[in-house]
Amino acid sequence: MSSKNALSKPRAWRNLFRTWSIARRLTVLYAGSSVLMLVLATAYLYWSLVDNLDREASAFLANEIQECRRLLHEHPDDERLLSYEIQIETAANKLIKYYLRLLDNQGRILLETPGMGDIVPVASFPAAIAAAVPVRGTVWNSGTGTSYLLMSSLAQVGMEGIPPRLLHAALDISTDEALIAAYRRKLIAVVASCILFSCAAGVFVARRGLQPVKAITRATDRITASQLHERIGEYAWPEELASLARSFDQMLDRLEDSFSRLSRFSADLAHELRTPINNLRGEAGVALSQTRTSDEYRRTLESSLEEYARLSRLIDNLLFLARADGPITGITRTACDVRKAIEGVREYYEALAADRGIEIVCGGEATLQADPVLFRQAISNLLANALNYTPRGGTVSMNVRQQDDRTVEVTVTDTGLGIPAAHLPRIFDRFYRVDPAPSQQPNPSGLGLAIVKSIMALHGGAVSVQSEVGKGSTFTVRFPPAVVSTAARR
Ligand code: ADP
Repeated sequence: MSSKNALSKPRAWRNLFRTWSIARRLTVLYAGSSVLMLVLATAYLYWSLVDNLDREASAFLANEIQECRRLLHEHPDDERLLSYEIQIETAANKLIKYYLRLLDNQGRILLETPGMGDIVPVASFPAAIAAAVPVRGTVWNSGTGTSYLLMSSLAQVGMEGIPPRLLHAALDISTDEALIAAYRRKLIAVVASCILFSCAAGVFVARRGLQPVKAITRATDRITASQLHERIGEYAWPEELASLARSFDQMLDRLEDSFSRLSRFSADLAHELRTPINNLRGEAGVALSQTRTSDEYRRTLESSLEEYARLSRLIDNLLFLARADGPITGITRTACDVRKAIEGVREYYEALAADRGIEIVCGGEATLQADPVLFRQAISNLLANALNYTPRGGTVSMNVRQQDDRTVEVTVTDTGLGIPAAHLPRIFDRFYRVDPAPSQQPNPSGLGLAIVKSIMALHGGAVSVQSEVGKGSTFTVRFPPAVVSTAARR
């Protein structure tokens, strides 16, 4: 339980950081890094000042001790020299307050700077390290607010058989301490004001830096469904936002296109439904305007039935397209012999083709993983179109080809009317018809190619067209090679 809590804590912190605004993040990161740098630099300067002063004071004491050791070693009998060094010279120096003391091996004081006993008693000194002058002294506070640097050292006396003496040296470092304290106060004041300044600068820099983001937000806010033609990429954006603005404009292009297709689709749909319903109403109205014979009623009902069938087909097609438009649509793929499948479609249309004096030929071999019903529907739509727009005596050829990369292509080529280049980009749109298209189909719905496009999208493939007016058209459906999942994303 506790380990789980421990694990979830950093995540909670990270999540908290993630919810921060970019301005706050930039401020904290900017101010934090500059404060860290400042604190490190100041700490280093402070430490080096303290260390230098301590080193100098220690060197001074070590020098004094060394001198006394030299006198004891070289002139052990000359008490005058030693006394001058320990008692007179120390007391005479008005600039540097320092004290020296000489003790015998019993701890009895032999010589010391006058008054030293009251200022730095024997007990306050550290123990001496045998035969060595310490590199650094020990700081001792007298209790009256004055600090001293203390150093103890053993000193050999020149004459043989005499035990070593003990030297005590003390240096008043209160001036150094005061200097350090003043320096510390100044540093704290400087660091504190720099922290405030860098926080304020952080806020300013972040706000200033994020102004273009606010500007781009305002620009995008202005765009509504009725102003989809507006673009934001034309303004001068900083480099980081320019690509965002471009992507946004591209999204607007797609949205605008979808919007206009959608509104065209709604208008077309209303139109498509209005015609058969008006026909039905008209026929019913005429039939009811006077008493009719049972044969006349039968004819009216038969004609209505045709309209109902047409409406029903239209609704089925629209339902299929609406389902195919869904986010994920499952299709059942099975291995199918493509040649056999197109031969089946050809047989179905053979009688109609013969009636219209059009020859249908098939060629090529391939196998494919596809939904057999949808595959058949796509090829049927293409073949029906080819028969509808090809004059008597023409030929429609369906060819299957397996490419080297295992892509399977089926082409439906006719020798018909062809499609003007201006219409080619839109013929796969719902309800789009090349006007006036002299179709042999009595009621072209304008949904056939849209359904082919949806079927190909469900298979992860594509449909394309090449056409020349007066020579004919070739529609190509291309199925991708490997199919892993049975669900295709639209
Ligand atoms: P429709 O029901 O009108 O045939 P489609 O979506 O199948 O609807 O086709 C859209 C339009 O594309 C048709 O109206 C027609 O003008 C054109 N078209 C489709 N196939 C052919 C073809 N093989 N030859 C000439 N024009 C074609």
